[in-house]
Amino acid sequence: MRRFLIAGNWKMNGGPYDAAELLQGLKEQKAEVDENVDVLVCPPFVSIGMASEILHDTDIQVGGQNLHFEENGAFTGEISGSMLVESGCNYVIIGHSERRQYFGETDETVNKRVKKAIEHKLAPVVCVGESLAQRKKDEHFDLVKNQVKAALFGLSEDDAMDVVIAYEPIWAIGTGETASPEQAQEMHKHIRDVLAELYSQDVADGINILYGGSMKPANAEELLSQPDVDGGLIGGASLDAGSFSEIITIA
Ligand code: 13P
Repeated sequence: MRRFLIAGNWKMNGGPYDAAELLQGLKEQKAEVDENVDVLVCPPFVSIGMASEILHDTDIQVGGQNLHFEENGAFTGEISGSMLVESGCNYVIIGHSERRQYFGETDETVNKRVKKAIEHKLAPVVCVGESLAQRKKDEHFDLVKNQVKAALFGLSEDDAMDVVIAYEPIWAIGTGETASPEQAQEMHKHIRDVLAELYSQDVADGINILYGGSMKPANAEELLSQPDVDGGLIGGASLDAGSFSEIITIA
């Protein structure tokens, strides 16, 4: 049975001091966490050490927001998989649309990063999703299919089992507009069908597919109750301890 995953992507918010305050707040909220729900926070790199320290006595896991596909060396400004592991991470977000849009991330570099994450036993949270223009042109199903296939290219069945997919329609990110539960379910089912085609129904049924894009306490329940929505990747609402723990409790 798939476990739910509620993940917070803090993006470029929360240096060590703010991270400490937010995470203490989260601990105090004592969200009711069902045994079938995993909780993850992905702070900026400089706050990961602080987060790991504060959360060491909880079940909340820590992840990075990116990693480089080389092991180490002359790559100014980059962070490696082993650095994330050493800092206490066991997940890493890969290929977020903001990285694709502003930092030149491509399907090819996403695939390289996914492979590097797996090598380090970091579970990659691979982001896929279409723009509004692509949806209007009815290209969204093909686009997402291609993104999933490219991200997982060359991965064995065993490795694919460690991957988490996050469907984040770009038009719903930070806009206050969410995909309707039907739109989310339809795309999540499509992604699961793509995974079944690539591997097997068993593998597809074991992979977590998260929804991301303006998820908040007010809409979490109807999104999370869809059969193929296995959790959320939450931006804005994860920066508020109260809202994030409400979503955890809903899951
Ligand atoms: P918002 O929840 O702020 O829309 O961000 C979603 C997101 O991009 C998570 O990765």
